[in-house]
Amino acid sequence: MVATDMNTLGRKPLLASWMLGMLLLTGCAVTAVEPPRHSHDHTPRLVIGISVDQMRPDYLYRFWDHYGDDGFKRLVNDGFLFRNAQFRHGHTATGPGHAAIFTGTTPRIHGLIGNRWYVPELGREINVVEVPGSDHQTVGGGAAAGKQRSPGNMMVTTVSDELHLYTGERSRAFSFSLKDRTAILSGGHTGNAFWFDPATGNFVTSTFYARELPGWLQAFNDRRLAHQFLQRTWEPVRPLESYVESRPDRNPYERPLPGLYRATFPMDLAEIMRQPNLDAGVLALTPFGDELLFELAKIALLAEALGRGETPDMLMLGLSAADYIGHYFGPASKQVQDYYIRLDGYLADFLEFLDQHYERDEYLIFLTADHGAHYVPQYLHDKRIPTGHANFHTRLNEELNRQLGAHLERRFDSELLLSISGPNVYLDHPRMAELELDPAMVRAETVRFLRSLDRVSDALSADTLDQTEFTEGIRGRMMQNYFPARSGDVLVWLTPHTRGDLGTGWTGHGTPWTMDVHVPILFYGYDIPHGQSSAPVAPSDIASTLAVFLNSPFPSGNTGNPLNDLIYAPRRHHLPGNE
Ligand SMILES: [Zn+2]
Repeated sequence: MVATDMNTLGRKPLLASWMLGMLLLTGCAVTAVEPPRHSHDHTPRLVIGISVDQMRPDYLYRFWDHYGDDGFKRLVNDGFLFRNAQFRHGHTATGPGHAAIFTGTTPRIHGLIGNRWYVPELGREINVVEVPGSDHQTVGGGAAAGKQRSPGNMMVTTVSDELHLYTGERSRAFSFSLKDRTAILSGGHTGNAFWFDPATGNFVTSTFYARELPGWLQAFNDRRLAHQFLQRTWEPVRPLESYVESRPDRNPYERPLPGLYRATFPMDLAEIMRQPNLDAGVLALTPFGDELLFELAKIALLAEALGRGETPDMLMLGLSAADYIGHYFGPASKQVQDYYIRLDGYLADFLEFLDQHYERDEYLIFLTADHGAHYVPQYLHDKRIPTGHANFHTRLNEELNRQLGAHLERRFDSELLLSISGPNVYLDHPRMAELELDPAMVRAETVRFLRSLDRVSDALSADTLDQTEFTEGIRGRMMQNYFPARSGDVLVWLTPHTRGDLGTGWTGHGTPWTMDVHVPILFYGYDIPHGQSSAPVAPSDIASTLAVFLNSPFPSGNTGNPLNDLIYAPRRHHLPGNE
């Protein structure tokens, strides 16, 4: 201690004279040495990131009258809302979306081009959080919890990684989700990620993070709360007749939960669980899956004393039941409406918990989504809104695969199509070399053929993407989804409201179109003022915004911009150091 003090004392005059010299040299005014606006002493102590998987911005407005005063309304009325946030990349899925939020960039830089992608050398698709060849094992769960799980495919740092490095490894990040990829990508390379194991109903981690679960998580798992929740019946939290903003409960566009014949309320989970071959994963298809996550978050905050250290900490909550419910029932359903009314209650409860344990200016919350969702194509078709579906009996991707495969075989006398995975079309390179075919020529023919199909909006070859910089519009979004070593030979995307992977009713996301890229961004707490903005921004602007509040470096691949409408909005109250 003494030595340290002496060193510090010894350095001070040197530092002062160096600074004086700099001032004289540069002719800077005195303001140059004043603390920055968000000075080191006044950063938030705790950053809480909430991503609601598949949340469209209209869910805020559409269900507004059903919300209480203490949930979404508190966040919107006291916080700052960005109404025009759209992802900058084109394949809107959970992996690329969460990485965009936390790394501040697009798949073109972070490298996560989908929830999975095809690897020709392996002859199969890999999962976004699966690192082939690694020896990481799941800790605390069964085989269904995944093997070789880590953020190793994410080529850049996250905002929490940079905070960890900046603070001499004192800042900590904890991330929780029902989905492995959500927890793993939110927490970065230096965080602690935990996700749900459907086989056991426990939260687990990977040996990438730790050899064993923390004691408090073991105790949480021992309570078997997931199994308790699976005894419940999911029925509307308010009278169903009051849900006038959504379509009748009984309609042909929804998918029943496993073991049920009808996709209508009430849904008796205990009855579902009596079916053979069903596990605790059923919980993720109901709002109670995300309720469980809030319970876990509260325990983690207290047990790890997050926000109580000398440097800021981060907690990430990925609410995945929102996505599963969206996929089963669609944006127009009573079930999605009921989910958001319940989420409003969970948020109110969580905010009250934070009030009990933290001052309002100690914590900063942001809420956003990893992608949006489109209406069920068959519903739109029946409303006479055009979709690329002539019928709902075939899966378009399978048809596309067949048509393109047959065309290339006719044209080049050989099977050249390996796989279509998401928007990526992979060709057989060893075979092309054998036949001495120029890959660029085969790619051009692939693009030409795909463009001749009515339901295909457009296609771009790797050659075009290598030679052209598309900065705007849909082509710009697809360009931002292109990572040469992992992407296909051709990127293809379908017309709006057309789903490649579904033959019948159900819906989803994954396209570069408005309803899939448009999400809310909400900030609340700390010295966040009340306000709104319709400026064109993206979730990949969140990371650098947080870094400005935390004074920490931007993530290594950052291409987003700090949200200046928020950072420089007038404050009602002034924290010291705030001009
Ligand atoms: Zn999804």
